[in-house]
Amino acid sequence: MRELPLVHVKFVATLLSISLASVMSVTPALAEPLIPVTYSVKTNDPVIFITIDDGFIMNTQARDLILSEGIPVTLFLKGNIWKQPRHREFFTPLVEAGATVGNHTENHAVLTKVSASRAKTEICTGRDSAEAVSGQAVTLLRPPGGAQNRSTQIIAASCGQTRVVLWDVSVNGEKIATYGGPLKAGDIILMHWRKNLHLSLQKVLSEAKRLGLTPANLSDYLQ
Ligand SMILES: [Zn+2]
Repeated sequence: MRELPLVHVKFVATLLSISLASVMSVTPALAEPLIPVTYSVKTNDPVIFITIDDGFIMNTQARDLILSEGIPVTLFLKGNIWKQPRHREFFTPLVEAGATVGNHTENHAVLTKVSASRAKTEICTGRDSAEAVSGQAVTLLRPPGGAQNRSTQIIAASCGQTRVVLWDVSVNGEKIATYGGPLKAGDIILMHWRKNLHLSLQKVLSEAKRLGLTPANLSDYLQ
């Protein structure tokens, strides 16, 4: 390989230091506020937390079970779901019964795969849609697919979100997936609005009862 003249090396070194300086100058952005990420709640109370995502599929059996049993749930519905009259009518009784409403972005964007400006629009608009129906300050963000990183935490903070809520248990139908062992106090349980959601709820409620655990309101434990 041809050796570079020394003067050229110095020139390249200068360029590198300039570009390094320009990178350094943007690092204060990384020091902007970012919000914590929660997989489960540290508590000695014998409680679990039920969260239900998406909302395209309306499962009446599941909704009526939540209402009749008074189960505290957190709804992470897509923002655009709240704008569909049929869906809004379906989910509003849960909000009126005290469900916590979270933010699942406006269009279910995978936040780590879109531009920063698109991520901001998705999070801020999703928050606005959720606040419009709930009358609650919506501060809990559940990123679609659980896809998030430091950048999305900073963007979420700029949209007034105070926490990224993930999960340590997921349920599909009657299948409960944990990181090992049975349900335990503080678990945040992920479910989806699916045709089998009522089966998931029945299974989790019976398993929780067997273990002396009770569903509680997540927002009460995330102050
Ligand atoms: Zn989702």
